[in-house]
Amino acid sequence: MTHRLERLRQRLGEEELDAILISQGENRRYLSGFTGSAGFLLISQQHAILATDFRYIEQAKRQAPDFDIVQIEGELPKWFSNLASSLRAKKIGFEAKDLSFATYRKLVATAGKKELLPTEEIVESLRAVKDEEELELIMKAVGISDAAFEESAPMLHPGMTEKEAAWEIERLLREKGSESVPFDIIVASGPDSALPHHQPTDRTILSGEPLIIDMGARFAGYSSDLSRTICLGNEDKNFGKVYDLVLGAQLTAIATIEAGMSGEQADSLARTVIEQGGYGENFGHGLGHGIGLAPHEAPRLGRDSKDVLAEGMVFTIEPSIYISGWGGVRIEDMVVLEKGRVRVLSEAKKID
Ligand code: ZN
Repeated sequence: MTHRLERLRQRLGEEELDAILISQGENRRYLSGFTGSAGFLLISQQHAILATDFRYIEQAKRQAPDFDIVQIEGELPKWFSNLASSLRAKKIGFEAKDLSFATYRKLVATAGKKELLPTEEIVESLRAVKDEEELELIMKAVGISDAAFEESAPMLHPGMTEKEAAWEIERLLREKGSESVPFDIIVASGPDSALPHHQPTDRTILSGEPLIIDMGARFAGYSSDLSRTICLGNEDKNFGKVYDLVLGAQLTAIATIEAGMSGEQADSLARTVIEQGGYGENFGHGLGHGIGLAPHEAPRLGRDSKDVLAEGMVFTIEPSIYISGWGGVRIEDMVVLEKGRVRVLSEAKKID
């Protein structure tokens, strides 16, 4: 964890902050190793404090040896000012996307002469680039979802409901070592598959229609994310055409994305293929997203994304086409940027 703290401290210097208060859960875990669900980090150039309540003190001592553990009681504004004073910190950053406005107001009222400054995406931008240890954990999560998909695919059959299929997949994920599921599994059949974030219903899966499965595993906190579109029975006349276009877009992105591109440029590589096939209007979301401790994190690959893709980033590539009344096709793999190019991590079979 020490190299993560070093990178953060460098950013504090650049931002001219004496310290930063970390409240966001995944950021807290990333910097400290502490997996508890409540607590704050207060980090300056000299100090690293993990403040948590009675329930987590023992756990914090075990998991965060690089931090001084401080036991707190009550809301943040009650103890924050004293703790910050003990660090002699005057300019203190907080995470503007995480701290509530109500807490911020109370904090300012009790802060005395300390300056509370909003920051955005500081730790998130560090998290976007994965280190070796993280990549190993991500690969475990990817392996679990690949195996769960491979094993569930032959079990799926027409006549089964979306909910039954989702439960089968969830059971397999857990049996293969997933800690929990990082997001609700999507099983979307026929016209339902035109809804990108469909929740499984009691609808019966029919032969010949598109079936989108989107699922992930979690291992040591790290998520995987995998989508496949299959068809049980004989494909209807649209399926092959739409599927080939989405697959072509995905393979083009995989072959041509390079480090240094913006999220917008990467997105357009796949989008152009779908537009040229006449389905531009039907690809309504971005090409992909970073993934790690959170199933969706930086960088973002999408039409207006200025995020710059860099070596070591892990993200998804998931072009799609959704046709109202018919259904959709989405194919999603996880990749890592290595030596400037994309290496695909997912190994689950696709229709070819
Ligand atoms: Zn995804």
